[in-house]
Amino acid sequence: MGIASINPTTGQTLKSFEELTGEQLEARLQLAESTFPAYRRTSFAERAPKMLRAAEILETEKQEFGRLMTTEMGKPLSAAISEAEKCALVCRYYAENAEKHLADEVVQTNAKKSYVRFQPLGPVLAVMPWNFPFWQVFRFAAPALMAGNVGLLKHASNVPQCALAIEEIFQRAGFPEGAFQTLLIGSAKVENVLKDERVKAATLTGSEPAGRSVAGIAGDQIKKTVLELGGSDPFIVMPSANLREAVTTAVKARTINNGQSCIAAKRFIVAAEIYEEFERRFVDEMKALRVGDPLEQSTDIGPLATPQIVDDLEEQVKRAIASGARILTGGKRIDRPGNFYEPTVLVDIDPATPVSCEEIFGPVAMLFRVNNTDEAIQLANATTFGLGSAAWTNDAREQRRFIEELEAGSVFINGMVASDPRLPFGGVKHSGYGRELAEFGIREFVNIKTVWIGESKAPDSRTPTDDTE
Ligand code: NAP
Repeated sequence: MGIASINPTTGQTLKSFEELTGEQLEARLQLAESTFPAYRRTSFAERAPKMLRAAEILETEKQEFGRLMTTEMGKPLSAAISEAEKCALVCRYYAENAEKHLADEVVQTNAKKSYVRFQPLGPVLAVMPWNFPFWQVFRFAAPALMAGNVGLLKHASNVPQCALAIEEIFQRAGFPEGAFQTLLIGSAKVENVLKDERVKAATLTGSEPAGRSVAGIAGDQIKKTVLELGGSDPFIVMPSANLREAVTTAVKARTINNGQSCIAAKRFIVAAEIYEEFERRFVDEMKALRVGDPLEQSTDIGPLATPQIVDDLEEQVKRAIASGARILTGGKRIDRPGNFYEPTVLVDIDPATPVSCEEIFGPVAMLFRVNNTDEAIQLANATTFGLGSAAWTNDAREQRRFIEELEAGSVFINGMVASDPRLPFGGVKHSGYGRELAEFGIREFVNIKTVWIGESKAPDSRTPTDDTE
Protein backbone atom coordinates (compact mmCIF):
# COMPACT_ATOMS: atom_id res chain seq x y z
CA MET A 1 0.00 0.00 0.00
CA GLY A 2 2.94 2.37 0.67
CA ILE A 3 2.50 5.67 2.44
CA ALA A 4 -0.71 7.19 1.18
CA SER A 5 -3.86 8.97 2.28
CA ILE A 6 -6.81 7.06 0.86
CA ASN A 7 -10.20 8.47 1.74
CA PRO A 8 -12.04 5.52 3.36
CA THR A 9 -15.41 7.03 2.45
CA THR A 10 -14.73 7.00 -1.28
CA GLY A 11 -11.66 4.83 -1.81
CA GLN A 12 -10.04 7.77 -3.59
CA THR A 13 -6.29 8.33 -3.14
CA LEU A 14 -5.82 11.84 -1.81
CA LYS A 15 -2.04 11.97 -1.72
CA SER A 16 0.89 9.53 -1.88
CA PHE A 17 4.33 9.98 -0.38
CA GLU A 18 7.75 8.51 -0.99
CA GLU A 19 9.34 6.90 2.04
CA LEU A 20 12.38 8.75 3.39
CA THR A 21 15.57 7.64 1.68
CA GLY A 22 18.41 6.26 3.80
CA GLU A 23 20.13 9.61 3.55
CA GLN A 24 17.08 11.59 4.59
CA LEU A 25 16.47 9.28 7.54
CA GLU A 26 20.09 9.63 8.62
CA ALA A 27 19.81 13.43 8.45
CA ARG A 28 16.75 13.35 10.70
CA LEU A 29 18.41 11.08 13.25
CA GLN A 30 21.44 13.36 13.27
CA LEU A 31 19.25 16.39 13.76
CA ALA A 32 17.46 14.71 16.69
CA GLU A 33 20.78 13.87 18.29
CA SER A 34 22.28 17.33 17.80
CA THR A 35 19.13 19.09 19.04
CA PHE A 36 18.95 17.18 22.32
CA PRO A 37 21.93 18.56 24.30
CA ALA A 38 20.78 22.17 24.04
CA TYR A 39 17.07 21.35 24.25
CA ARG A 40 17.44 19.33 27.46
CA ARG A 41 19.03 22.36 29.12
CA THR A 42 16.02 24.60 28.44
CA SER A 43 13.93 25.21 31.54
CA PHE A 44 10.30 24.29 32.06
CA ALA A 45 9.56 28.02 31.90
CA GLU A 46 11.03 28.10 28.38
CA ARG A 47 9.25 24.95 27.15
CA ALA A 48 5.81 25.70 28.60
CA PRO A 49 4.92 28.74 26.42
CA LYS A 50 5.77 26.72 23.30
CA MET A 51 3.49 23.90 24.44
CA LEU A 52 0.75 26.44 25.18
CA ARG A 53 1.23 27.87 21.69
CA ALA A 54 0.77 24.35 20.26
CA ALA A 55 -2.50 24.18 22.22
CA GLU A 56 -3.62 27.49 20.74
CA ILE A 57 -2.85 26.34 17.19
CA LEU A 58 -4.86 23.16 17.77
CA GLU A 59 -7.81 25.10 19.11
CA THR A 60 -7.78 27.80 16.45
CA GLU A 61 -7.47 25.36 13.57
CA LYS A 62 -9.52 22.48 14.96
CA GLN A 63 -11.92 22.54 11.98
CA GLU A 64 -9.09 22.06 9.47
CA PHE A 65 -7.35 19.40 11.57
CA GLY A 66 -10.69 17.68 12.11
CA ARG A 67 -11.37 17.56 8.38
CA LEU A 68 -7.92 16.16 7.75
CA MET A 69 -8.45 13.32 10.23
CA THR A 70 -11.91 12.54 8.84
CA THR A 71 -10.78 12.39 5.23
CA GLU A 72 -7.73 10.27 6.08
CA MET A 73 -9.28 7.72 8.43
CA GLY A 74 -13.06 8.18 8.45
CA LYS A 75 -14.09 9.22 11.97
CA PRO A 76 -17.15 11.51 12.18
CA LEU A 77 -16.12 15.14 11.80
CA SER A 78 -17.50 16.24 15.18
CA ALA A 79 -15.40 13.55 16.89
CA ALA A 80 -12.32 14.62 14.93
CA ILE A 81 -12.79 18.25 16.00
CA SER A 82 -13.17 17.11 19.62
CA GLU A 83 -9.95 15.13 19.20
CA ALA A 84 -8.06 18.30 18.22
CA GLU A 85 -9.53 20.03 21.30
CA LYS A 86 -8.45 17.16 23.53
CA CYS A 87 -4.91 17.42 22.15
CA ALA A 88 -4.91 21.09 23.18
CA LEU A 89 -5.98 19.97 26.65
CA VAL A 90 -3.06 17.55 27.03
CA CYS A 91 -0.62 20.24 25.82
CA ARG A 92 -1.96 22.63 28.44
CA TYR A 93 -1.95 19.96 31.13
CA TYR A 94 1.75 19.21 30.67
CA ALA A 95 2.68 22.87 30.11
CA GLU A 96 1.18 23.57 33.52
CA ASN A 97 2.16 20.41 35.42
CA ALA A 98 5.43 19.06 34.00
CA GLU A 99 7.61 21.03 36.40
CA LYS A 100 5.62 19.81 39.41
CA HIS A 101 5.65 16.16 38.21
CA LEU A 102 9.40 16.23 37.60
CA ALA A 103 10.52 18.30 40.58
CA ASP A 104 13.35 16.83 42.71
CA GLU A 105 12.00 14.57 45.43
CA VAL A 106 13.93 14.81 48.68
CA VAL A 107 14.22 11.54 50.61
CA GLN A 108 15.50 11.38 54.18
CA THR A 109 18.36 8.86 54.50
CA ASN A 110 21.69 8.71 56.33
CA ALA A 111 23.13 11.09 53.70
CA LYS A 112 23.64 14.77 54.32
CA LYS A 113 21.11 15.14 51.54
CA SER A 114 19.54 12.64 49.21
CA TYR A 115 16.96 13.15 46.53
CA VAL A 116 15.57 11.83 43.26
CA ARG A 117 16.11 13.85 40.09
CA PHE A 118 14.29 13.21 36.80
CA GLN A 119 16.33 13.76 33.65
CA PRO A 120 15.40 13.30 29.97
CA LEU A 121 16.77 10.35 28.02
CA GLY A 122 17.23 11.76 24.51
CA PRO A 123 15.52 10.98 21.19
CA VAL A 124 12.45 8.76 21.76
CA LEU A 125 10.80 6.89 18.89
CA ALA A 126 6.99 6.82 18.86
CA VAL A 127 5.31 4.23 16.63
CA MET A 128 1.69 5.26 16.41
CA PRO A 129 -1.67 4.00 15.05
CA TRP A 130 -4.18 5.70 12.78
CA ASN A 131 -7.29 5.38 14.93
CA PHE A 132 -6.80 8.58 16.95
CA PRO A 133 -4.27 10.08 14.56
CA PHE A 134 -3.72 13.28 16.58
CA TRP A 135 -4.52 12.24 20.14
CA GLN A 136 -2.23 9.21 20.25
CA VAL A 137 0.69 11.35 19.12
CA PHE A 138 0.03 14.33 21.38
CA ARG A 139 -0.37 12.23 24.49
CA PHE A 140 3.15 10.93 23.84
CA ALA A 141 4.67 14.18 22.57
CA ALA A 142 3.38 16.67 25.15
CA PRO A 143 4.96 14.92 28.18
CA ALA A 144 8.06 13.77 26.25
CA LEU A 145 8.89 17.27 25.03
CA MET A 146 8.04 18.94 28.34
CA ALA A 147 10.42 16.48 30.04
CA GLY A 148 13.22 17.62 27.71
CA ASN A 149 13.29 14.63 25.36
CA VAL A 150 13.10 14.99 21.59
CA GLY A 151 10.50 13.04 19.62
CA LEU A 152 10.67 10.95 16.44
CA LEU A 153 7.26 9.95 15.07
CA LYS A 154 6.72 6.91 12.87
CA HIS A 155 3.01 7.23 12.25
CA ALA A 156 0.74 4.63 10.63
CA SER A 157 1.25 4.55 6.87
CA ASN A 158 -2.37 5.52 6.10
CA VAL A 159 -2.27 8.89 7.94
CA PRO A 160 0.80 10.67 6.52
CA GLN A 161 -0.93 14.02 6.21
CA CYS A 162 -1.83 13.99 9.91
CA ALA A 163 1.77 13.01 10.71
CA LEU A 164 3.14 15.97 8.76
CA ALA A 165 0.56 18.37 10.17
CA ILE A 166 1.62 17.46 13.72
CA GLU A 167 5.30 18.05 12.95
CA GLU A 168 4.34 21.45 11.58
CA ILE A 169 2.32 22.34 14.70
CA PHE A 170 5.37 21.84 16.93
CA GLN A 171 7.56 23.86 14.58
CA ARG A 172 5.06 26.71 14.41
CA ALA A 173 4.76 26.61 18.19
CA GLY A 174 8.44 27.53 18.40
CA PHE A 175 10.12 24.25 19.33
CA PRO A 176 13.58 23.83 17.78
CA GLU A 177 13.53 22.10 14.41
CA GLY A 178 14.80 18.77 15.68
CA ALA A 179 12.63 18.60 18.82
CA PHE A 180 9.83 16.77 17.05
CA GLN A 181 10.23 15.13 13.65
CA THR A 182 8.02 12.92 11.54
CA LEU A 183 9.72 10.01 9.81
CA LEU A 184 7.76 8.93 6.75
CA ILE A 185 8.81 5.28 6.80
CA GLY A 186 7.03 1.94 6.61
CA SER A 187 7.06 -0.52 9.49
CA ALA A 188 9.91 -2.54 7.93
CA LYS A 189 12.29 0.33 8.67
CA VAL A 190 11.40 0.57 12.37
CA GLU A 191 13.92 -2.11 13.31
CA ASN A 192 16.88 -0.10 12.03
CA VAL A 193 15.72 3.05 13.78
CA LEU A 194 15.25 1.13 17.03
CA LYS A 195 18.73 -0.31 16.74
CA ASP A 196 20.29 3.09 16.14
CA GLU A 197 22.45 4.14 19.11
CA ARG A 198 21.05 7.66 18.96
CA VAL A 199 17.52 6.48 19.73
CA LYS A 200 17.27 5.93 23.48
CA ALA A 201 13.75 4.55 24.00
CA ALA A 202 10.51 3.75 22.20
CA THR A 203 6.78 3.75 22.69
CA LEU A 204 4.32 1.86 20.51
CA THR A 205 0.58 2.14 20.38
CA GLY A 206 -0.88 -0.47 18.11
CA SER A 207 -1.62 -4.15 17.74
CA GLU A 208 -0.22 -7.01 19.78
CA PRO A 209 2.01 -8.36 16.96
CA ALA A 210 3.54 -4.92 16.36
CA GLY A 211 4.12 -4.57 20.12
CA ARG A 212 5.82 -7.94 20.34
CA SER A 213 8.12 -7.06 17.48
CA VAL A 214 9.12 -3.61 18.76
CA ALA A 215 9.52 -4.78 22.37
CA GLY A 216 11.63 -7.73 21.20
CA ILE A 217 14.03 -5.57 19.22
CA ALA A 218 14.20 -2.86 21.90
CA GLY A 219 14.73 -5.50 24.58
CA ASP A 220 17.65 -6.91 22.66
CA GLN A 221 19.09 -3.38 22.52
CA ILE A 222 18.33 -2.85 26.23
CA LYS A 223 16.12 0.12 25.53
CA LYS A 224 13.08 1.08 27.54
CA THR A 225 9.65 0.68 25.90
CA VAL A 226 6.08 1.58 26.69
CA LEU A 227 3.42 -0.51 24.94
CA GLU A 228 -0.22 0.50 24.51
CA LEU A 229 -1.79 -2.44 22.69
CA GLY A 230 -5.21 -3.86 21.98
CA GLY A 231 -8.13 -4.68 24.19
CA SER A 232 -11.32 -6.72 24.49
CA ASP A 233 -12.87 -4.58 27.19
CA PRO A 234 -15.82 -5.95 29.18
CA PHE A 235 -18.88 -3.81 29.91
CA ILE A 236 -20.80 -5.42 32.78
CA VAL A 237 -24.40 -4.53 33.63
CA MET A 238 -25.92 -5.71 36.92
CA PRO A 239 -29.59 -5.55 38.04
CA SER A 240 -29.18 -2.44 40.23
CA ALA A 241 -27.95 -0.33 37.28
CA ASN A 242 -30.00 2.34 35.56
CA LEU A 243 -30.76 0.31 32.45
CA ARG A 244 -31.69 3.17 30.15
CA GLU A 245 -28.43 5.02 30.86
CA ALA A 246 -26.40 1.80 30.74
CA VAL A 247 -27.73 0.85 27.28
CA THR A 248 -27.17 4.28 25.74
CA THR A 249 -23.64 4.40 27.15
CA ALA A 250 -22.98 0.81 26.04
CA VAL A 251 -23.90 1.61 22.42
CA LYS A 252 -21.70 4.69 22.48
CA ALA A 253 -18.85 2.75 24.11
CA ARG A 254 -18.99 0.12 21.35
CA THR A 255 -19.39 2.39 18.35
CA ILE A 256 -17.16 5.33 19.27
CA ASN A 257 -14.66 6.05 16.50
CA ASN A 258 -16.65 3.74 14.18
CA GLY A 259 -15.90 0.93 16.64
CA GLN A 260 -12.15 1.27 16.20
CA SER A 261 -10.96 2.20 19.66
CA CYS A 262 -8.65 0.16 21.85
CA ILE A 263 -10.86 1.00 24.85
CA ALA A 264 -14.16 0.49 23.06
CA ALA A 265 -16.39 -1.84 25.07
CA LYS A 266 -16.35 -5.07 23.10
CA ARG A 267 -18.04 -7.67 25.31
CA PHE A 268 -21.34 -6.83 27.05
CA ILE A 269 -21.82 -9.05 30.09
CA VAL A 270 -25.33 -8.70 31.43
CA ALA A 271 -27.08 -10.17 34.49
CA ALA A 272 -29.81 -12.68 33.57
CA GLU A 273 -32.57 -10.74 35.44
CA ILE A 274 -32.24 -7.77 33.09
CA TYR A 275 -30.71 -9.46 30.06
CA GLU A 276 -33.86 -9.59 27.85
CA GLU A 277 -34.62 -5.93 28.32
CA PHE A 278 -30.97 -4.91 27.83
CA GLU A 279 -30.77 -6.92 24.61
CA ARG A 280 -33.99 -5.43 23.20
CA ARG A 281 -32.99 -1.85 23.96
CA PHE A 282 -29.41 -2.36 22.82
CA VAL A 283 -30.47 -3.81 19.45
CA ASP A 284 -32.99 -0.98 18.94
CA GLU A 285 -30.31 1.66 19.57
CA MET A 286 -27.78 -0.08 17.31
CA LYS A 287 -30.39 -0.24 14.52
CA ALA A 288 -31.08 3.49 14.91
CA LEU A 289 -27.47 4.50 14.24
CA ARG A 290 -26.96 6.42 11.02
CA VAL A 291 -24.11 5.07 8.90
CA GLY A 292 -22.75 7.34 6.19
CA ASP A 293 -20.40 10.08 5.11
CA PRO A 294 -18.43 11.13 8.23
CA LEU A 295 -18.33 14.73 7.01
CA GLU A 296 -22.14 14.91 7.37
CA GLN A 297 -23.24 16.17 10.75
CA SER A 298 -26.04 13.59 11.02
CA THR A 299 -23.66 10.60 10.69
CA ASP A 300 -23.06 8.43 13.76
CA ILE A 301 -20.81 5.85 12.11
CA GLY A 302 -18.47 6.40 9.18
CA PRO A 303 -16.38 3.93 7.22
CA LEU A 304 -13.67 1.73 8.68
CA ALA A 305 -10.20 3.07 8.06
CA THR A 306 -9.00 0.51 5.49
CA PRO A 307 -10.47 -2.30 3.32
CA GLN A 308 -8.37 -4.76 5.35
CA ILE A 309 -10.27 -3.90 8.53
CA VAL A 310 -13.58 -4.72 6.80
CA ASP A 311 -12.14 -8.05 5.62
CA ASP A 312 -10.93 -8.86 9.16
CA LEU A 313 -14.31 -7.97 10.66
CA GLU A 314 -16.17 -10.07 8.12
CA GLU A 315 -13.91 -13.03 8.87
CA GLN A 316 -14.40 -12.70 12.65
CA VAL A 317 -18.20 -12.50 12.34
CA LYS A 318 -18.19 -15.57 10.05
CA ARG A 319 -16.16 -17.50 12.62
CA ALA A 320 -18.56 -16.49 15.39
CA ILE A 321 -21.54 -17.68 13.32
CA ALA A 322 -19.78 -20.93 12.45
CA SER A 323 -19.40 -21.66 16.15
CA GLY A 324 -23.07 -21.10 16.91
CA ALA A 325 -23.54 -17.33 17.38
CA ARG A 326 -26.70 -15.58 16.12
CA ILE A 327 -26.94 -12.15 14.48
CA LEU A 328 -29.67 -9.89 15.87
CA THR A 329 -28.90 -7.00 13.55
CA GLY A 330 -26.31 -6.18 10.87
CA GLY A 331 -23.68 -8.78 10.08
CA LYS A 332 -22.41 -7.72 6.67
CA ARG A 333 -20.52 -5.07 4.72
CA ILE A 334 -22.57 -2.34 3.12
CA ASP A 335 -22.79 -2.32 -0.65
CA ARG A 336 -21.49 1.16 -1.47
CA PRO A 337 -18.07 2.67 -2.22
CA GLY A 338 -15.80 2.92 0.81
CA ASN A 339 -15.18 0.61 3.75
CA PHE A 340 -18.62 0.43 5.38
CA TYR A 341 -19.87 -2.31 7.73
CA GLU A 342 -23.28 -2.55 9.39
CA PRO A 343 -23.62 -1.98 13.14
CA THR A 344 -23.93 -5.57 14.33
CA VAL A 345 -25.10 -7.42 17.43
CA LEU A 346 -24.07 -11.02 18.07
CA VAL A 347 -25.55 -13.27 20.78
CA ASP A 348 -25.18 -16.91 21.88
CA ILE A 349 -21.40 -16.77 21.40
CA ASP A 350 -19.62 -19.76 22.83
CA PRO A 351 -17.23 -18.28 25.45
CA ALA A 352 -14.81 -21.12 24.65
CA THR A 353 -14.24 -19.93 21.05
CA PRO A 354 -11.30 -17.58 20.41
CA VAL A 355 -13.46 -14.94 18.74
CA SER A 356 -15.37 -14.40 22.01
CA CYS A 357 -12.39 -12.65 23.58
CA GLU A 358 -10.41 -11.36 20.59
CA GLU A 359 -10.20 -7.70 19.76
CA ILE A 360 -12.99 -6.85 17.32
CA PHE A 361 -12.13 -3.54 15.66
CA GLY A 362 -15.40 -2.27 14.22
CA PRO A 363 -19.07 -1.74 15.16
CA VAL A 364 -19.74 -5.35 16.21
CA ALA A 365 -21.02 -6.02 19.74
CA MET A 366 -21.13 -9.37 21.53
CA LEU A 367 -23.73 -9.90 24.26
CA PHE A 368 -23.33 -12.47 27.04
CA ARG A 369 -25.74 -13.51 29.81
CA VAL A 370 -24.45 -14.31 33.34
CA ASN A 371 -26.17 -15.48 36.52
CA ASN A 372 -24.22 -13.61 39.18
CA THR A 373 -21.22 -11.40 40.01
CA ASP A 374 -18.81 -14.33 40.13
CA GLU A 375 -19.72 -15.37 36.60
CA ALA A 376 -19.49 -11.78 35.39
CA ILE A 377 -15.96 -11.36 36.78
CA GLN A 378 -14.84 -14.74 35.48
CA LEU A 379 -16.06 -14.03 31.96
CA ALA A 380 -14.72 -10.46 32.00
CA ASN A 381 -11.26 -11.76 32.88
CA ALA A 382 -11.36 -14.61 30.33
CA THR A 383 -9.21 -12.79 27.77
CA THR A 384 -5.51 -12.34 27.27
CA PHE A 385 -6.12 -8.56 27.15
CA GLY A 386 -6.45 -6.22 30.13
CA LEU A 387 -6.88 -2.64 28.96
CA GLY A 388 -10.08 -1.07 30.30
CA SER A 389 -13.26 -2.34 31.96
CA ALA A 390 -16.64 -0.88 32.84
CA ALA A 391 -19.24 -2.11 35.33
CA TRP A 392 -22.71 -0.73 35.92
CA THR A 393 -24.12 -1.31 39.39
CA ASN A 394 -25.40 0.76 42.29
CA ASP A 395 -24.59 -1.99 44.79
CA ALA A 396 -21.57 -0.88 46.84
CA ARG A 397 -20.42 -4.45 47.51
CA GLU A 398 -20.47 -5.30 43.79
CA GLN A 399 -18.64 -2.09 42.99
CA ARG A 400 -15.87 -3.04 45.44
CA ARG A 401 -15.56 -6.49 43.90
CA PHE A 402 -15.28 -5.16 40.34
CA ILE A 403 -12.68 -2.59 41.39
CA GLU A 404 -10.70 -5.27 43.19
CA GLU A 405 -11.03 -8.22 40.81
CA LEU A 406 -11.24 -7.01 37.20
CA GLU A 407 -7.89 -7.59 35.49
CA ALA A 408 -7.50 -4.32 33.61
CA GLY A 409 -5.58 -1.04 33.61
CA SER A 410 -8.76 0.82 34.53
CA VAL A 411 -12.21 0.20 35.99
CA PHE A 412 -15.00 2.65 35.29
CA ILE A 413 -18.08 2.24 37.49
CA ASN A 414 -21.35 3.52 35.95
CA GLY A 415 -19.47 5.09 33.03
CA MET A 416 -17.55 4.25 29.89
CA VAL A 417 -13.79 3.91 29.68
CA ALA A 418 -12.14 7.11 28.46
CA SER A 419 -8.75 8.77 28.68
CA ASP A 420 -8.16 11.98 30.63
CA PRO A 421 -4.81 13.84 30.84
CA ARG A 422 -5.13 13.86 34.65
CA LEU A 423 -5.48 10.07 35.00
CA PRO A 424 -2.96 7.37 34.03
CA PHE A 425 -3.80 5.28 30.98
CA GLY A 426 -2.51 1.83 30.03
CA GLY A 427 -3.04 -1.87 30.33
CA VAL A 428 -1.97 -5.15 31.85
CA LYS A 429 -1.62 -8.64 30.33
CA HIS A 430 -1.30 -8.50 26.52
CA SER A 431 -2.64 -4.94 26.44
CA GLY A 432 0.85 -3.74 27.21
CA TYR A 433 2.83 -2.10 29.98
CA GLY A 434 3.85 1.32 31.15
CA ARG A 435 1.48 4.24 31.46
CA GLU A 436 0.67 7.38 29.52
CA LEU A 437 -0.85 10.61 30.86
CA ALA A 438 -0.79 12.14 34.36
CA GLU A 439 2.47 12.12 36.32
CA PHE A 440 3.02 8.44 35.50
CA GLY A 441 3.22 9.21 31.76
CA ILE A 442 5.82 11.93 32.03
CA ARG A 443 7.98 9.73 34.26
CA GLU A 444 8.25 6.91 31.69
CA PHE A 445 10.95 8.48 29.54
CA VAL A 446 13.25 9.92 32.18
CA ASN A 447 16.28 8.73 34.05
CA ILE A 448 15.11 8.45 37.66
CA LYS A 449 18.43 9.43 39.10
CA THR A 450 19.32 8.87 42.74
CA VAL A 451 21.46 11.65 44.18
CA TRP A 452 23.27 10.94 47.49
CA ILE A 453 25.47 13.57 49.05
CA GLY A 454 27.55 12.55 52.05
CA GLU A 455 29.31 14.45 54.78
CA SER A 456 33.07 14.46 54.34
CA LYS A 457 35.76 15.90 56.58
CA ALA A 458 37.99 18.67 55.29
CA PRO A 459 41.13 17.41 53.49
CA ASP A 460 43.86 16.06 55.84
CA SER A 461 46.71 18.53 56.41
CA ARG A 462 49.59 17.43 54.22
CA THR A 463 52.75 16.12 55.96
CA PRO A 464 56.25 17.12 54.69
CA THR A 465 56.95 13.52 53.61
CA ASP A 466 54.16 13.80 51.04
CA ASP A 467 56.35 15.90 48.78
CA THR A 468 59.12 13.33 48.64
CA GLU A 469 56.84 10.50 47.48
P1 NAP B 1 -0.75 -1.76 13.90
O1 NAP B 1 -1.01 -2.41 12.62
O2 NAP B 1 -0.06 -2.50 14.95
O3 NAP B 1 0.03 -0.41 13.57
C1 NAP B 1 0.41 0.51 14.57
C2 NAP B 1 1.72 1.13 14.19
O4 NAP B 1 2.74 0.14 14.25
C3 NAP B 1 1.77 1.67 12.77
O5 NAP B 1 2.58 2.81 12.75
C4 NAP B 1 2.40 0.54 11.99
O6 NAP B 1 3.06 0.98 10.82
C5 NAP B 1 3.40 0.02 12.99
N1 NAP B 1 3.75 -1.38 12.85
C6 NAP B 1 2.98 -2.40 12.45
N2 NAP B 1 3.67 -3.56 12.49
C7 NAP B 1 4.91 -3.26 12.92
C8 NAP B 1 6.08 -4.01 13.17
N3 NAP B 1 6.11 -5.33 13.00
N4 NAP B 1 7.19 -3.37 13.58
C9 NAP B 1 7.17 -2.03 13.78
N5 NAP B 1 6.10 -1.27 13.57
C10 NAP B 1 4.97 -1.87 13.15
O7 NAP B 1 -2.09 -1.24 14.56
P2 NAP B 1 -3.22 -0.37 13.89
O8 NAP B 1 -4.05 -1.27 13.06
O9 NAP B 1 -2.66 0.85 13.27
O10 NAP B 1 -4.01 0.13 15.18
C11 NAP B 1 -4.96 -0.64 15.78
C12 NAP B 1 -4.43 -1.33 17.02
O11 NAP B 1 -3.91 -0.35 17.92
C13 NAP B 1 -5.51 -2.04 17.78
O12 NAP B 1 -5.03 -3.26 18.24
C14 NAP B 1 -5.79 -1.09 18.93
O13 NAP B 1 -6.38 -1.68 20.04
C15 NAP B 1 -4.44 -0.57 19.22
N6 NAP B 1 -4.51 0.69 19.97
C16 NAP B 1 -4.14 0.69 21.28
C17 NAP B 1 -4.25 1.84 22.03
C18 NAP B 1 -3.86 1.87 23.48
O14 NAP B 1 -3.67 2.96 24.01
N7 NAP B 1 -3.70 0.76 24.15
C19 NAP B 1 -4.72 3.01 21.44
C20 NAP B 1 -5.08 2.96 20.09
C21 NAP B 1 -4.96 1.79 19.37
P3 NAP B 1 2.41 0.79 9.36
O15 NAP B 1 1.14 1.55 9.34
O16 NAP B 1 3.44 1.33 8.45
O17 NAP B 1 2.18 -0.68 9.20
